[in-house]
Amino acid sequence: MDSATVVVGIDNGGTTNNATVLTLDGRFLVDRLVETPSRVQEGPEAAVAAMADAFDGVLALTGVPREQVGAVGLDTPGPASASGVISSKGSTNFSQPAWRGYDVRGALERRLGLPVVYHNDGNAAALYAHHVHFGADAMRRSSVSAIVGTGLGGGLVEHGRVISGAAGMAGELGHVHIPMNTVLAPGQPVPICACGFAGDVESVVSLTAIEHNLLPYWLTRFPGHPLIGESPERAAKLVRGYGERGDELAREVFAQQARALAALFTIASNFTDPHAYFVGGGVVETDAAFRDWFLAAVREHTLLRAEQAALATFALVPDRDMAGARGVALAALEAVRALPSPPPLVGD
Ligand SMILES: [Zn+2]
Repeated sequence: MDSATVVVGIDNGGTTNNATVLTLDGRFLVDRLVETPSRVQEGPEAAVAAMADAFDGVLALTGVPREQVGAVGLDTPGPASASGVISSKGSTNFSQPAWRGYDVRGALERRLGLPVVYHNDGNAAALYAHHVHFGADAMRRSSVSAIVGTGLGGGLVEHGRVISGAAGMAGELGHVHIPMNTVLAPGQPVPICACGFAGDVESVVSLTAIEHNLLPYWLTRFPGHPLIGESPERAAKLVRGYGERGDELAREVFAQQARALAALFTIASNFTDPHAYFVGGGVVETDAAFRDWFLAAVREHTLLRAEQAALATFALVPDRDMAGARGVALAALEAVRALPSPPPLVGD
């Protein structure tokens, strides 16, 4: 493995792929999104061809010859196994029947003729947050990341590596049950998650939760609120802007989400006792004052022992759009570094 070796990271999404290139000494060669169509809805064959296009495209853009690529990192939305086999139940992104049980990691590996390392998108973003935050200390630190979107993603990182679990289902933080007594207002119904659980993290901390669980309750407490006139879907998206402007209802909604994340982090503190607690996603892609208020609320309600509080950091997940590609690129880099050095060339 010579010093010119690079790895490529490909973040696969519902409509686009984003690709990046990382050098062996840890430098990203692109500082922005490099997007191409993902063609996921056309089925696995078209999608794998599109990933290969993303790979070729980012190499052309950075002027790196293909021979210098040592490994590739790939992330997709879940659910998928730790080795990159899409769930046999299917999912929103992989709705075409041909995707069910499809080994997307293996398919890309065969297509490119290079080792491919796989993580789901939440785990990839968690890995990126961890490495950016800790830098040179990353392999000696642990963290938990909660990333709020349509659902709740994220992951657990221990000694700089993602905890995948036996079946690849570790770090499914959205479906961890949390005590509701510190989260709900008096008389508020116990929220239900899309997974069927009552009172798990995602049932409170997700865009879906705002639409289905939180706003239907809070709008009854604020008669005459302007969001009453909106469709539930639109109201759920608008509530963040109201929060930034200090609207009382919106602040109740986000305070509730902050308490739920704090309940999750309290569990994490007793489970893996991480060095850092990261929050990312739409909920923190807001103006600085709102973001700081939200993170401070999470920190305030996370119940740490004094010894833990002295060490623990609470921080935001950076560069969310690029986190997936960069996270799996870091995983690929780690895989390349772990490979035994090739034997020296002999001959004349
Ligand atoms: Zn759930």
